[in-house]
Amino acid sequence: MKEKGLLIVLSGPSGVGKGTVRKEIFAQPDTAFEYSISMTTRSPREGEVNGVDYFFKTREEFEELIRQDRLLEYAEFVGNYYGTPVDYVRETLDRGKDVFLEIEVQGARQVREKFPDGLFIFLVPPSLSELKNRIVTRGTETEDIINNRMSIAKEEIEMMNLYDYVVENDQIDLACERIKSIVVAEHCRRERVEPKYKKMLEVE
Ligand code: 5GP
Repeated sequence: MKEKGLLIVLSGPSGVGKGTVRKEIFAQPDTAFEYSISMTTRSPREGEVNGVDYFFKTREEFEELIRQDRLLEYAEFVGNYYGTPVDYVRETLDRGKDVFLEIEVQGARQVREKFPDGLFIFLVPPSLSELKNRIVTRGTETEDIINNRMSIAKEEIEMMNLYDYVVENDQIDLACERIKSIVVAEHCRRERVEPKYKKMLEVE
């Protein structure tokens, strides 16, 4: 039987740069994991493409997906729904491929319950002032939304204890390198590889 893929969850406070780090990881030709494109009810930002950045849905469509149990996790974040399509994740893991989710912390907590042996990585900013800078300079949000995101971010940083690894996003290329190294190490974790080698001994 084919070995299952690893479920990798990258999470962290709003504005820490999860999206930028994820895009950089997937721009690198040696990245072997598959990105799970999320569903959302928020409107597309300039340049965002349906089916590439997100699957953009109406609230009615999203609520129908919830009713049909088609989401591995979902959360309401600053007035919009975000969620992960469950079929895609399970099918890709069954094919032996690693799946990478980039989601906020409420969703990550739900995934932890369903996939306790997933790999949970928390991205942190070098400081809170740096975090606010990043949200402000992105320039896509109103002041109310910025303040709301900052207060959510502080609560989110306190949820670090749900994670296996913490990566500081001081520099994008360094953060990506750390994340990819963690994935490589995780594939060599004894608990993960032991069954395979035990089986090998049985055959000999
Ligand atoms: P944005 O609107 O800036 O694209 O995303 C807002 C937040 O939603 C980010 O923290 C992002 O990581 C998170 N997010 C994106 N997709 C999902 C998802 O499928 N589920 C959850 N729970 N959060 C998501």
